[in-house]
Amino acid sequence: MNNNQIVLTIDMEDWFHSLDYNPSSWSNYQRRVEFTTNKILELLEQKKSTATFLILGDVAANHPDLIKQIYRAGHEIGSHGFDHKFIYQQTKEEFRDDLRRSINYLSDLIGKRIVTFRAPYFSITKKSFWAFDILKEEGIKIDSSIFPVINHRYGIPDNPRLPYQLSNGLWEWPITTYKTFLGNIPFAGGFYFRFFPGFLLRFFISSLQNKQEPILFYFHPWEFDYEQPKVENISFFLNFRHYYGLKNNFSKLTELLNNVSTISISEGIDLLK
Ligand SMILES: [Zn+2]
Repeated sequence: MNNNQIVLTIDMEDWFHSLDYNPSSWSNYQRRVEFTTNKILELLEQKKSTATFLILGDVAANHPDLIKQIYRAGHEIGSHGFDHKFIYQQTKEEFRDDLRRSINYLSDLIGKRIVTFRAPYFSITKKSFWAFDILKEEGIKIDSSIFPVINHRYGIPDNPRLPYQLSNGLWEWPITTYKTFLGNIPFAGGFYFRFFPGFLLRFFISSLQNKQEPILFYFHPWEFDYEQPKVENISFFLNFRHYYGLKNNFSKLTELLNNVSTISISEGIDLLK
C-alpha cells in the first residue's frame, strides 16, 4: 500500500438496525439507507476511490438494486451477516445459518462469491473465536471484525493491531487504532470519528502514516443522515453514541477523502501479500 492509501469499509445497515435488536419490528421503521449511500457513492466517484461495502442481509433483501449499483460502480461487496446479531450471543449453528444465508443472498445478487466479512457490533471477541473456523468453512477469506480496544459490547484490547493471517489461512484486518502506553485509542470511524475534532484525527492518521502502518476506516451510511428519526426508550449512552456529531460528519468524510485515496479491503490485502 502506498502511504497515502487507506482501506475504506462501509457497514451497510439502516439507521435502526443497531438500535432495535428485534428483526420482527424492523418493518415499523422508515428505510433511509438509499439516500445516504448514494451520497457516499458520488463522493467516491469524484475521488476515483474504491471501498468495501459490508452489506447486512436485511438491507440487501430490501434494496437489491442498490447493492448491484454499488458493485457495478467498482466497489467490493462483503457480508455483515443477515439479522445483525451479536456473534457471541448465538450458537455456532445459528451463526453459520445467518452467515450462509447472507453469503448466498449477496453472491446470487451480484453473481460473484462473497469473500469478506464483518461481524455486527465487531462481536468477534475472545468469547467467539470459534467464528473464525466457520467463516473459513463458508468461503470467507478476509475478516474485519476485531476492534483492539476496551468496550462494553466488543473489543480485544491486546489483539494484534495490524493485519495478519490466522493459522487457518483467514486474513484478519482489525479496525485501526492509535497505540499509546495507556491502551489503544479508537478513532478510525463510527462514533469515534464523529467525536474527535479534525486536528486530532489528522494527527492520528499522519502518525500512523509516518510509521508506515496500514490504516482501515469504517462508517455506516446512517452516520451521514442527520435528519434521521429518534428512537424512544434507548439508554442515554446508546442515544449519545448513535446521534452525536451527525450533522458535520459528511464534511468530515469529504475532508478525509481530500487528503487520502481509498481502496477496498481485498485490494489492501493483495498489496500486503
Ligand atoms: Zn452493524
